[in-house]
Amino acid sequence: MSAQKILIIEDELKIARFLELELGHEGYVVDQANDGREGLSKAQMNQYDLIILDIMLPSINGIEILRKIRQSSEIPIIMLTAKDEIMDKVVGLDMGANDYMTKPFAIEELLARIRAALKRGIVKPEAQKTLQVSGLQLDLDKYSVTYNNEPIELTKREFDLLKHLIENKNIVMTRDRLLETVWSFDYVGDTNIVDVYIRYLRSKIDDKFNIKLISTIRGVGYIIKDED
Ligand code: CA
Repeated sequence: MSAQKILIIEDELKIARFLELELGHEGYVVDQANDGREGLSKAQMNQYDLIILDIMLPSINGIEILRKIRQSSEIPIIMLTAKDEIMDKVVGLDMGANDYMTKPFAIEELLARIRAALKRGIVKPEAQKTLQVSGLQLDLDKYSVTYNNEPIELTKREFDLLKHLIENKNIVMTRDRLLETVWSFDYVGDTNIVDVYIRYLRSKIDDKFNIKLISTIRGVGYIIKDED
């Protein structure tokens, strides 16, 4: 694998220089910009694997840069914030920063976060932690489901099936496709197992809350439609 490229956008030269040395030492190819406008233009012109972005910057601030980058790219971005910039940190995460570090920070921690962000970036460009459809909310970290904040107990398989249907909402999922994705190679048999699990889900969600979440497309499969 060729070296991964990281852009550092940081106006404090001491920190920028320190990061460049440390990251270079770890084997990353490092580029830096010490002003907002320069940083944004580098981020837009060049191909990087990750961006380290300071919030307080001359000419264009980090939040604005983040907003602009997110219009066209899912590149992992770690924000650097000063201790008193808590509000900005929240805004940054809301606007799609992958992570943040509060200055001063331990370089080992930043390196660990960079590795984690790069790994997530490769597996899935947007690490979504919750899925939502029609009052139903799935927390992918906790494997928990709620309907209008009321908890629903699901087995792991039921959860995976529901998650897959919601990830592909408004698209009909065939039994074969569901079997392949949700059961992968753990199950050899006919696709009736999908119907059985759909029935479990319906009794726990549709019937219990008197809603119509999962629709059957006769002879094809199942679909969850987004409420208008
Ligand atoms: Ca700064």
